[in-house]
Amino acid sequence: MQIVTARAATPAVVIAPAVAPELPARVAGSIAQLREAVRQFGRVVYATSLGAESAVLTDLIFRHVPQIDVFTVDTERLPESPLELLERVEHRYQRKIRVVFPEAQHVQNYVADYGINGFYNGLAQRQSCCQIRKVEPFQRAIFGYNAWISGVRHEQSAERSEAKALEWDARYRLQKVNPLLDWSLAAIWNYIRQEKLPYNPLHDAGYPSIGCAPCTRAVQPGQDSRAGRWWWEDPAERECGLQPRQLPGSISDL
Ligand code: SF4
Repeated sequence: MQIVTARAATPAVVIAPAVAPELPARVAGSIAQLREAVRQFGRVVYATSLGAESAVLTDLIFRHVPQIDVFTVDTERLPESPLELLERVEHRYQRKIRVVFPEAQHVQNYVADYGINGFYNGLAQRQSCCQIRKVEPFQRAIFGYNAWISGVRHEQSAERSEAKALEWDARYRLQKVNPLLDWSLAAIWNYIRQEKLPYNPLHDAGYPSIGCAPCTRAVQPGQDSRAGRWWWEDPAERECGLQPRQLPGSISDL
């Protein structure tokens, strides 16, 4: 399997010609959801992926709802750009973001069993790698919280089109709050440009969604924003495990 790390591509970023009139309403709505999450659930945490949606959510949280804790998972297979971005974000807001790593012994066992890039050899091997490098550190980091914030948006994929603003996350046994569900990609980028937020330069090279280097590539114009993640797999399987497909017990929206 060839690893594609970068290539020339038509930027997938859609830049609307002017500040969309609905943007202030979206921003106000998302801030209201974040505040309501803190009011209802007390201890709330956000796991930033350092992607475009994260730029927006991090800004809303640090400026308007600072009671929400923020962390990120370093899978140790990320490209350099998200790590550089992490420093820029911390500098801009003068706030540290907790960095959580996978358990070294788990990674060593995986590599011994499947090889350093064993995730290319089948869905089970790929999901096992995501479990060790993403899901387990995430699970460790959210322990003790009552709700977590996610940046999923309806238009990102068929899977995510069914997400609710507030869901009971049965897998982690806490509430999951999705304040950006109705934001379009253009709205995300309008806000980033308007507020001059720091963002990953890979977005300008055709990468709407950025994950680990060996599992992310640029997308073609017209493809959905998740098409560059685990592109060798069936689209229905392209989740890392942090976003459950079955959402039993979903309760009313915030
Ligand atoms: S995205 Fe790829 S390298 Fe990263 S944790 Fe998942 S399978 Fe492993």
